[in-house]
Amino acid sequence: MGIPSRISLLLLIIISCFTRISANPSAQSLYDGKVLRNDSDSIKKASNDYGNIVHEIPSAVLFPSSVKEISGLLRWSNERSPPFTVAARGRGHSARGQAMARGGVVVDMTALSKTRRRIRVSRNGTYVDVGGEQLWIDVLRATLKRGLAPVSWTDYLYLSVGGTLSNAGISGQSFQRGPQINNVLELDVITGKGEFMTCSRERNPELFFAVLGGLGQFGIITRARIILDKAPTRVKWVRLIYSDFSIFSRDQEHLISSNSPNYVEGFLIIDENTTNQWRSSFSSPSRQSDIAALLKKQGILYSIELVKYYDNRTASTIDKDFETLLKELNFNPDFIFSADTSLFDFLHRVGDLDSPAGPPESHPWLNLFIPKSRISDFNAGVLALSQTQRVLPLLIFYPLNRKKWDDRMSAVTPEEDVFYTLGLLHSSPPNSYQIYDEFNSQILGFCKRAGIKVKQYLPNYKSQGDWIQHFGPKWPTFRQRKATFDPKFILSPGQGIFNSA
Ligand code: FAD
Repeated sequence: MGIPSRISLLLLIIISCFTRISANPSAQSLYDGKVLRNDSDSIKKASNDYGNIVHEIPSAVLFPSSVKEISGLLRWSNERSPPFTVAARGRGHSARGQAMARGGVVVDMTALSKTRRRIRVSRNGTYVDVGGEQLWIDVLRATLKRGLAPVSWTDYLYLSVGGTLSNAGISGQSFQRGPQINNVLELDVITGKGEFMTCSRERNPELFFAVLGGLGQFGIITRARIILDKAPTRVKWVRLIYSDFSIFSRDQEHLISSNSPNYVEGFLIIDENTTNQWRSSFSSPSRQSDIAALLKKQGILYSIELVKYYDNRTASTIDKDFETLLKELNFNPDFIFSADTSLFDFLHRVGDLDSPAGPPESHPWLNLFIPKSRISDFNAGVLALSQTQRVLPLLIFYPLNRKKWDDRMSAVTPEEDVFYTLGLLHSSPPNSYQIYDEFNSQILGFCKRAGIKVKQYLPNYKSQGDWIQHFGPKWPTFRQRKATFDPKFILSPGQGIFNSA
């Protein structure tokens, strides 16, 4: 869409929103240009994301001061022919333009958080009602005040609740507590038709299951009711080193089959910088050079990160319990790094990455789910590629239990009881991300040739055929739900499932 037609669309939207919802007290703020904007700063922000690779320019950005303004926008789009696309933008931490809307309207969800208190812990402390725009860090802070916390997390907390629930939300707790989408009791959603609906497993279940892991395709989450538990006061946290992949993966699988640890993640160390990143949380800098020497000798190392929560009641037995747990593992006994910290410091271990010191980077990430039965083939192939390409990203690698996922939800996993998640978290200067994309394509090509049925997490595909393959047996349901809740293909065009951005 060219500039003149974008401006006329903007005007049409402003006029229409004003006339359609003039009974709404917020119409005045829409009209005076504070809610719907097309100034260069707003447009620039809405046409970039964490990936810094895709840049799609919207006609306008909605800064909603109420949920009603979002449904007004969606209803108006439905009435237009053709409709304009609408994308909710939580934190914009997608890597491939998923929260963008070329020529349409981006809804900057963070504006909602400025209106009124949108994190409310229930009186009995079993759940918290949270605005879809809220960041997990704020949910953590608010719930800890009551000695409570959600049970399933992402590694990074400066992500919006609506954004992670549109994917799955995984971290080292997921093997035990399921992904974040499994820990939601109820949602308020504005569907693609502009209808406001409350949904749960019992009430409007089709919408509930569609939206969770639904890549923003069915509705905009304006409230999520999230399960809470008593927050442990302390965390015992250990990092172990392995030189052998099969021992490393066997130990990880053993750990996730038991209920003893509360968090299990793994890393592949192929670059000394990975070990440098440990220094902030583990005060053993003198051992870094020993690890570097071992790394030089082995070419690659593996690390398991393991946590057990405790409180006053269990403080006297935590060391013994941990010792028992470690005895079941076969790590390199020369390297055990341990820390004892608060729950907040542990969950906040990555910190806030959102004000980078240097020039902006691109993040051509690839996240995969890999079936356990093919993990050693995958390791052999990818390791070989990684060594020939000399592309050395941070590699996060840990197993998950499929039984903790609810297959009625839109999120897709491999069809095996245990599967691994691999995060290839590349950073590159903005003009050289293609090198990493080439590496990512080689990995996907290798899996295809070897018949390893991987699924992308935070998926990104270019053609609908690839999406159909991605969803597999879930595709007919996914398509049917789209026809029910967003029949005009208005929502989240940046995912490129039903329309290109
Ligand atoms: P956005 O990028 O704003 O949006 C993502 C998609 O969701 C878009 O399609 C958008 O339209 C849609 N959407 C946004 N808000 C809503 C809403 N309220 N209702 C409906 N749809 C909506 N993921 C993990 O699972 N585990 C991790 O440990 C993890 N770590 C990360 C660390 C970093 C540094 C980064 C950048 C990302 C990480 N992610 C992780 C990925 C992250 O969960 C997703 O990228 C997520 O979408 C980011 O949330 P966001 O608010 O930025 O979403």
